[in-house]
Amino acid sequence: MVKYKLVERKMTMIIIIPNNEQIMIENINNLFLKYELAFHQVSIASNCFYIFQNKIAEIVIKDLVTLSEKIEIVNIDTNYKLTNYKLKEYFNNIFNTFTFKGHKFIFIAGPCAIESSQQMDDCLKMNQKLEIPLVRGGIVKPRTSPYSYQGDIENGLSICNELKIENLVSEVMTIQQVEEFKNHVHIYQIGARNMQNFDLLKAVGKTKKPVILKRNPSATIEEWLLSAEYIMLQGNPNIALCERGIRTYENSYRNTLDLNAVAYLKTKTHLPIIVDPSHGTGDASMVLQMSLASIAAQADGIMVESHPTPSLSISDASQTINFEKLEELSIKAQNLLNLRSTYEDN
Ligand code: PEP
Ligand code: MN
Repeated sequence: MVKYKLVERKMTMIIIIPNNEQIMIENINNLFLKYELAFHQVSIASNCFYIFQNKIAEIVIKDLVTLSEKIEIVNIDTNYKLTNYKLKEYFNNIFNTFTFKGHKFIFIAGPCAIESSQQMDDCLKMNQKLEIPLVRGGIVKPRTSPYSYQGDIENGLSICNELKIENLVSEVMTIQQVEEFKNHVHIYQIGARNMQNFDLLKAVGKTKKPVILKRNPSATIEEWLLSAEYIMLQGNPNIALCERGIRTYENSYRNTLDLNAVAYLKTKTHLPIIVDPSHGTGDASMVLQMSLASIAAQADGIMVESHPTPSLSISDASQTINFEKLEELSIKAQNLLNLRSTYEDN
């Protein structure tokens, strides 16, 4: 009996109104007001979602279903709600917002930081040759030490303009940068250190741009999904989770790449999951194997650091691969993806 009560308390009810019908939404709001029920409400694409902290009483449900037959009710027993796998059917376009021209894999390669026009031009040309759809390059860099290179916003934005980069993934570290970088980046990256910067999460949530949410090295998967939930609750469902290594007792390499997370998340959330083996290992010699391992683990994408001359990279030189290695990776990744598609049933 006690056990049953606990389950009930954890159970959240999500009510979905298809097609965002305004009159229906007003009627429903009035109904919940009448019963004095507290709820969160968000419209995403053509659906309106109501999230209740508890299972709601039968009497309310009865009133609710008389308002419309189209209302759908989903019970969710996890602390994360909108990101739960149970809502997959309402969010089937997220993956496509990350890639161009029908690419089936979110492949991102490029330098840790935007340094010079030549460096970015070389990376863009190499990606184009290898058919890698997205280029990375931080306009700003969150660095552990204040004495390390922090990025150069003026230079970064002027390089974006000069090269007319259309497929850039760049970190944003402040609410102001979300607006400032808006016309220059295709995907916002929320870095590991900002995973729980809730005001920043809300700010990217107010845009419709795709967001890569990196996992903080000390965060549990639930905390990570709850951060994604902050973004989604603002109306932006276009989120990809990025596993980038966690902090463990092992100190032979920079981080421990938690590939369990990929397999685990596949059945827990409908969000795409990508892997960053560059930060996950901190070692350029491990990036190829761990990229392939990520693909084998069913990752929806990978993000790797590449540079025309890795040793000259201002930041993260030791984990950055050269173009020769990137080419080898892109060929082997494609072969493995082809193999994967022969046994994938999703
Ligand atoms: C990065 O992608 O360059 C970066 C700073 O990564 P993380 O936030 O995962 O450390
Ligand atoms: Mn880096």
